[in-house]
Amino acid sequence: MGKPITERKDQRPVVEIEGRGRVLEIYERLFGRFGPQHWWPGETPFEVIVGAILTQSAAWRNVEKAISNLKAEGCLSLEGILGLPEEKLAALIRPSGYYNVKARKLKAFCLFLEEAYKGNLDAMRARPVDELRVELLNVYGVGRETADSILLYACGLPTFVVDAYTRRIFERLGLIGPRWSYEEIRRFFMDRLPASVPLFNEYHALIVALGKEVCLARKPRCERCPLNSLCKSSLR
Ligand code: SF4
Repeated sequence: MGKPITERKDQRPVVEIEGRGRVLEIYERLFGRFGPQHWWPGETPFEVIVGAILTQSAAWRNVEKAISNLKAEGCLSLEGILGLPEEKLAALIRPSGYYNVKARKLKAFCLFLEEAYKGNLDAMRARPVDELRVELLNVYGVGRETADSILLYACGLPTFVVDAYTRRIFERLGLIGPRWSYEEIRRFFMDRLPASVPLFNEYHALIVALGKEVCLARKPRCERCPLNSLCKSSLR
């Protein structure tokens, strides 16, 4: 057994956990292939949060159209969104799809921010990550992936974002099981990685890059995959 590299708050030496080296090796290989991803695109933390809600079941290019509509209308702010009638908000974010539901979700988040933190994102970000995560999960329209995206990319707090690409790739690699829950997959990463915001940020973005360009749903391009020598499903 190697010497513990780093210790988490609960003092468990993470090096002892099975697969830790493998998870870091995968990161290194992905970074070597794709380089820094510069996530999350957004000029302000508030814009990142709006993007995290609008990107549910939507392609990012359509989210960008919705966000630029909000900007053009001068409404990409807490006050702007709260001040808009819901139908008008829905019309502005129409390109992102499910616009009536998403308008309600944006309003719900803004109301939460206003009521719990007087609209102050810095006060929200100062909360301990696990407590804030529970609060966010209680906001209408904020599921686990959205909550973790907000925590990591808007608040700069250490949590791992799990999405469909993460599930597909790590299942194919043989590192997670087909019936694992979101929380089990999130814990898999967080138990094996140092609690580092830059690392969690880049790792998730690199998984998305691999899922979009190489580990495709129907025909994975294993011959050009930087993980093929580690992968139980490789077709190479
Ligand atoms: S080797 Fe193939 S199946 Fe495995 S992660 Fe790479 S692209 Fe996906």
